Amino acid sequence: MRQDPLDEQLLHKVAGRWLAALSDGSKELVALFDPDGSLQFAGAPHTAEELLGYGPAELLRLLPAELVHPADAALVAEAFRAVCATPGARHTLSFRARHKAGRFVAVQATAVNRLGDPVVRAVVVFARAAASTVAGSEVGDRASFVEVLNGTVRRAQLRPAQGFAVLVIELERYRMLLGSYGAAVARGVTEEVTRRLLPLLRPQDRLAQLADNEFALLLDGTADHERAAELVERIQQAVSQRMQVGGKEITTAAIVGIATSERRYERAEEVLRDAGVALNRARSQGRRQRAVFRTQMRLEDAAYMALLAELNAALHNDEFRVHYQPVVSLTTRSLVGFEALVRWYHPTRGIVAPSEFIAVAEDTGLIQALGERVLTLACRQMAQWHRRHRGVPPPYVSVNLSAKQVVEERIGDTILRILGESELDPSKLCLELTESAVLESQEAAASMIARLRRHGVRLALDDFGTGYASFSYLQKLPYDALKIDRSFVRQLGDGQRRDDRAIVHAIVVLAHNLNMEVVAEGVETAEQAAVVHGLACEYAQGYAFARPLDALAAEALIVARHRF
Ligand code: C2E
Ligand code: CA
Ligand code: CA
Repeated sequence: MRQDPLDEQLLHKVAGRWLAALSDGSKELVALFDPDGSLQFAGAPHTAEELLGYGPAELLRLLPAELVHPADAALVAEAFRAVCATPGARHTLSFRARHKAGRFVAVQATAVNRLGDPVVRAVVVFARAAASTVAGSEVGDRASFVEVLNGTVRRAQLRPAQGFAVLVIELERYRMLLGSYGAAVARGVTEEVTRRLLPLLRPQDRLAQLADNEFALLLDGTADHERAAELVERIQQAVSQRMQVGGKEITTAAIVGIATSERRYERAEEVLRDAGVALNRARSQGRRQRAVFRTQMRLEDAAYMALLAELNAALHNDEFRVHYQPVVSLTTRSLVGFEALVRWYHPTRGIVAPSEFIAVAEDTGLIQALGERVLTLACRQMAQWHRRHRGVPPPYVSVNLSAKQVVEERIGDTILRILGESELDPSKLCLELTESAVLESQEAAASMIARLRRHGVRLALDDFGTGYASFSYLQKLPYDALKIDRSFVRQLGDGQRRDDRAIVHAIVVLAHNLNMEVVAEGVETAEQAAVVHGLACEYAQGYAFARPLDALAAEALIVARHRF
């Protein structure tokens, strides 16, 4: 609601003087509002422009709805109403405001009710740039991003309607910036980009920095491409605005690769890899510099094809080895088994972790040959240890099977053949399956597993607690053991999380009632070990006891009858 011209002028004069005194040299934008929400006056012109890109006169012509992020509008309106209702009331709030350039910036505002003040007669708002975290979003690293994304991927498998999109964002010309201005300026650029990205996000979005010049963004619950596309547009706009870093004028640009849950992913690495493939495509694409992943792109991606060729060669050259991570009895503190974890002994890159190649092996069919190799190595090794160390209680070996292996028709025959050739007692082999592996191949898996179990092979449900439908699936297959995912275990240590303890305890009790053993994964501290043991979980695995060990180190533990 606008005043008549005379009143407005008068008000500006009075309020202007008051504000000038108040906001002199201030880093804050000062604004006066009527109780109906219309802006009467905005002071501290320099700050206003720095913060939102508008001069005070321009600000006056805008409606609050044009300035506040739609998702935050209700919150802001609510806070404003509350302040208006009580003379003298004061309230501080963070929200996203639209910059003149179109991007959203994080703003922290304090509103004070001065309606009763005869000079001011307004709600006074002081606004400033908020610290770089907005609505719960923080910048994580690759490891935490992968962990969160794995949870999202598994949820999307069980509930495809709740999709997601992952953006990989690369800064253009970063190497050049680094070369000509040095590391401090380059880092400053990354920080500035982070500051510009955060306000664009919703609380459920996750941002991570993967490398100096590379970010990943998870849009959880965004099955629709429209939001992803709209956001990419705004990201590219925000990043391409000129910036001042270390006294230098700098322009960069965001190149964006996108992968969405439309392709039914099974693990985080696959999603990141495909977004990376799309990024490579986007980079070579000229002006728009963004691309959504399509399967075909993989075959056209040089890095992907090189990895594939190398993996194939690695199988022929026998470059895969198995490391063994002890599974420990929390009661006796002795070794009960090993989990076999594959490692690629790469001739030039050293030891490569499975996260870098399992997904590629899976979507090209190499996983069958690789899985067979791991089973053979693990069974042979275990049989040899049993023969050599007869006086010691023989540990079992637990081998991971991926969904792609389980659907393969001959997998049952293959496993029985390997057991026969290695002369390993079948009851000393355990197969680890995830919920999704079972889900994808229900009938085939069920009959294959029934057959193997008749031969005495054990079965464990891996990564329990990361999916949704967990409890109901427990009864579908005759598992001998259940492995509680490390994302659960990690939270048990901090005394705050009583709910998690109750959940884990419930899982353990249920498993015991169904005649299953329970193994806690990723136990990293003595405290976590004590907590899970206290919740009736009898076995554990994790850095607190031992990292995955090569065969020599693993055998040493058997020989020494090591107590953990
Ligand atoms: P997973 O089955 O959940 O295996 C456990 C992973 O957690 C291993 O990573 C292990 O090194 C790691 N880990 C063990 N203790 C701790 C701990 O205390 N803290 C933390 N933060 N991590 C711990 P790794 O060896 O990199 O394997 C990653 C995944 O790759 C495995 O997850 C499994 O899904 C897959 N994988 C590994 N080997 C094979 C294989 O031979 N075949 C198939 N199909 N998948 C495999
Ligand atoms: Ca496992
Ligand atoms: Ca696991």
